[in-house]
Amino acid sequence: MFHYDAGLFLTAAQLGIDVRRRQPRCFVSHAHADHIARHQLALATRGTACLYRHRLGPHHRVLEMVYRTPVDFGGLRLTAFPAGHCLGSAMLVADDGQRSLLYTGDFKLGPSATSEPAELPHADILVMESTFGRPHYRLPKRAAIVARLLELVHAAFAEGKTPVVHAYPLGKSQEVTRLLTLAGVPVLQHAEIFKISQIYQSCGVDLGDFARFEGQPLAGHAIVTLPRSAPHFRLPCLGRTVSIAVTGWAMDERTKYRLGVDHALPLSDHADYDQLIETVERVAPQEIFCTHGPPEFADDLRDLGYNAYPLQPAAQRRLF
Ligand SMILES: [Zn+2]
Repeated sequence: MFHYDAGLFLTAAQLGIDVRRRQPRCFVSHAHADHIARHQLALATRGTACLYRHRLGPHHRVLEMVYRTPVDFGGLRLTAFPAGHCLGSAMLVADDGQRSLLYTGDFKLGPSATSEPAELPHADILVMESTFGRPHYRLPKRAAIVARLLELVHAAFAEGKTPVVHAYPLGKSQEVTRLLTLAGVPVLQHAEIFKISQIYQSCGVDLGDFARFEGQPLAGHAIVTLPRSAPHFRLPCLGRTVSIAVTGWAMDERTKYRLGVDHALPLSDHADYDQLIETVERVAPQEIFCTHGPPEFADDLRDLGYNAYPLQPAAQRRLF
């Protein structure tokens, strides 16, 4: 039903899935840089289409898909479902009338302040991302992470410091902005983040009281800027700050030292280990192929009785 040739393809439809080099036609699950290329025709949700054109140019052709509305394409019935990862993020079900395949793309389960929660339809074949596919990657409760974030922000205000949150510009920045504004903390954003936030707003996702950082911090406002690894993350005139990185990798205790921040909080837009296992249980597939994660995760699934395999460059050109 699919093959792998330095990227995933639905064989019958000759349709790439998140292939990172230009294709005649390719499904784009979401607009993070490691999932897009300048395709001749992209299949994507409206939210992803807006972000894709923002990143690659307005002239790109996109066949827009609507969540839960099937499209007949190249002999397959294709349906997108919310993936809970960022604006427009989608899983894809492909059905050839005999077997069905679910491709998760990047996803997470549970609530989000800025994207529809993931849905997990049944499929015969599951191709899943497994970024956090090691047992020690178990997230604390989301409510506890949000409470800690607000505690750090208010403690910074109390000390006369500016709280500066470092987050990826697409997805995590908007999520953390909405969590802060919902708690009554207005946000000033790095210009690059602000542009993407405006796309969220135009797609109907309200981020609350936020504005572009114009060169001066404002009392009682938090700053949301790029990760410290980005070349232009630093904003001028901030004075005394408390820096907070929000990333799933903060499940590793040394993350704050690695990132050079005062605090690191494990607010993730990827499924943690328990959610990955839950996904497999709910989809109940006959075969599982794991991408974007440690190969040991497939071993763990086999120990649980599933037919599971890592899908990675070593498996190039294999047919399934
Ligand atoms: Zn992603």
